[in-house]
Amino acid sequence: MQKNLLYDNHGRPLNYLRLAVTDRCNLRCFYCMPAEGIKYVQRKELLSYEEMLRLVGVLVEMGITKVRITGGEPFVRRDLMGFLERLTAIEGLQAVNITTNGVLTLPFIPKLKEIGIASINLSIDSLDRDRFFQITRRDELPKVLKTLEALEEAGIPTKLNAVVMDGQNTEDILPLAAFTKDHPIEVRFIEEMPFNGEGEKTNGKSWNHRQILAKIESKYPDIQRVADPPNSTATHYHIPGHAANIGIIAAFTRTFCGSCNRIRLTAQGMLKTCLYDEGVLDIRSLMRSGASDDDLKGAFLAVFNSRAKDGFEAEQNRKGRPVQESMSTIGG
Ligand code: SAM
Ligand code: SF4
Repeated sequence: MQKNLLYDNHGRPLNYLRLAVTDRCNLRCFYCMPAEGIKYVQRKELLSYEEMLRLVGVLVEMGITKVRITGGEPFVRRDLMGFLERLTAIEGLQAVNITTNGVLTLPFIPKLKEIGIASINLSIDSLDRDRFFQITRRDELPKVLKTLEALEEAGIPTKLNAVVMDGQNTEDILPLAAFTKDHPIEVRFIEEMPFNGEGEKTNGKSWNHRQILAKIESKYPDIQRVADPPNSTATHYHIPGHAANIGIIAAFTRTFCGSCNRIRLTAQGMLKTCLYDEGVLDIRSLMRSGASDDDLKGAFLAVFNSRAKDGFEAEQNRKGRPVQESMSTIGG
């Protein structure tokens, strides 16, 4: 296994890149973007696949071993599969994972399996068709459920992501927790964050990790805390007799910053060393002005060495507006 060579100024190893391949999306989840959508960037402002492959190659040489493809919705970008095939072939890159809403994913599952995609995170905030529609503003639950079924059948390791929102889907917490009984698919509940394109909380009342756990405990009082994989953002629990664990991600409370191993690259080529910063390096401009691989490495190292210690500090360091950008421009 490749030794991790990359550390930030707080001694945290960095080995995980979240790469947004587009800011576009075919859903309109209200916690992520307004009903009318966001102003998408022009195609030429997006990193090309060639540029992304170059950047990942450079970062892998520096110590990144895992990449998650995200967006927007990754499967709305043309020829994603051709890109993924080339990405998974990069030497030294140990795992390529994808986060998707699952609407367009079904036909690609055999190919995803063939090229060795390590795992899929499928976002599904409700198992109820009406509530799914209320949240995503699109009636696509049946397609997402077909994708889920096919992923399980194909044996691709899969996790479900559900953002928990007061007055929207708290009644989905128990059915989603129950899903782990007969399926080897971890279900992760995520605190809502104000990355909805409009700022402030969508309904003023989101649920924190304690409330989510209390809800699950109300039905499953014997739920047990279990060990977390290294650098996990989720706190893990297990209901005795169930096939899979449950994870709770304190994304807004930010309990996990001390072991954060991830960096993010937006679809426009802005590097973020924290979800809550406003972008610390415009890598696209650097690349397009002729930077060599060594120049890129130098620029990466400089920002890795001045990383905020946690999401609160990163938020405080923002020079521009407070957090309000759409998560579809960041990738989650
Ligand atoms: N479109 C894909 C999807 O939905 O899975 C990938 C991109 S999406 C931005 C990545 C993850 O971010 C999803 O699991 C989504 O639920 C989560 N997310 C989006 N907006 C969020 C918010 N305001 N608070 C918490 N999680 C959010
Ligand atoms: Fe699209 Fe994912 Fe944002 Fe929903 S959470 S609008 S699926 S990018």
